[in-house]
Amino acid sequence: MGIESGKNMFKEARVKLTAWYLLIIMAVSLSFSCVIYLGVNRELNRIANFQFTRIQGIVRGFPASINISPMPDSDAITEARARIIVILGLINLSILIFSGVGGYFLAGLTLNPIAEMVDEQKKFVSNASHELRTPLTALKTEIEVSLRDKKLDLGQAKKMLVSNLEEVDRMQKLSNYLLNLNRYGDEKKLILTKVNLKDVAIRAIGKNKVKTNLTNSLVLGNEESLVELVIILLDNAYKYSPKKDSVEVVVRSKKISVSDSGVGIAKEDLPHIFDRFYRSDKSRGTEGYGLGLSIAKSIVELHNASIKVESRSGRGSTFTITF
Ligand code: ADP
Repeated sequence: MGIESGKNMFKEARVKLTAWYLLIIMAVSLSFSCVIYLGVNRELNRIANFQFTRIQGIVRGFPASINISPMPDSDAITEARARIIVILGLINLSILIFSGVGGYFLAGLTLNPIAEMVDEQKKFVSNASHELRTPLTALKTEIEVSLRDKKLDLGQAKKMLVSNLEEVDRMQKLSNYLLNLNRYGDEKKLILTKVNLKDVAIRAIGKNKVKTNLTNSLVLGNEESLVELVIILLDNAYKYSPKKDSVEVVVRSKKISVSDSGVGIAKEDLPHIFDRFYRSDKSRGTEGYGLGLSIAKSIVELHNASIKVESRSGRGSTFTITF
């Protein structure tokens, strides 16, 4: 219902915008037509008067028996006037039709990106609410069941609290993702300074065990965001690799890459993995919201860098960021 009413709203706005275009164009066109008509009319009257005086002069030189009309062309002038009105009318009609069609098309071009953005926003809110509802429902059910259990002992209560905490952690992670997504989506510019990609990699890896091949490489970037970006890629590399020790981080000549020899990404999923809330069927069993890579993409874009994925199903993936 919401999407339908949104569509109607944009249709209405499109028609209104077209009407405004038409109103302005027709006001200009009709004013010009009036000016043209008045000018031509004045010229026609001047010619008529001129002819009238000339003919009167000629008439005076003829014998009275010859009857010459004082304004022989008056019919022609009236006809010319009528023809001008018809021509101006036709021109205005064509302008009305042409600008009506053109205006409707242009109004569509103007409004479509806004309509798409609103649609996207709606989808985003609905996805986010859906993701929040799942842990909330689990939390509520667990608490309700435990409260109904009259024989609940301390051990069981603690077990329930541990499970509750897991759900709360999930929600906290999601809200952090949502905040970051919003932050990087809205942010037009990050404060960039000279950053060594090797330091970024070391900070992101932290205490995790990964293979590394790190050389000093200075780029213009925002260190905090870049660390966040590499953490997202590392999280995924761990999550989607049964053998954790296959994860490798390489820094070389303004490039940083994170690779794994895990489950890999199917060809049909590759074009979508950076979309918000996109998760491949294979990853359904693992924890995640499909938001990590879209945050990663926003961070990469804010650095005017590029991110490339090479992956083969069952063989692993390599994500490379080039500055
Ligand atoms: P999430 O991991 O929370 O599902 P992401 O946005 O980080 O969300 O990733 C989107 C999808 O891309 C994942 O669901 C997964 O299918 C795929 N993907 C990302 N990184 C990897 C990887 N290293 N190996 C295999 N698949 C990956």
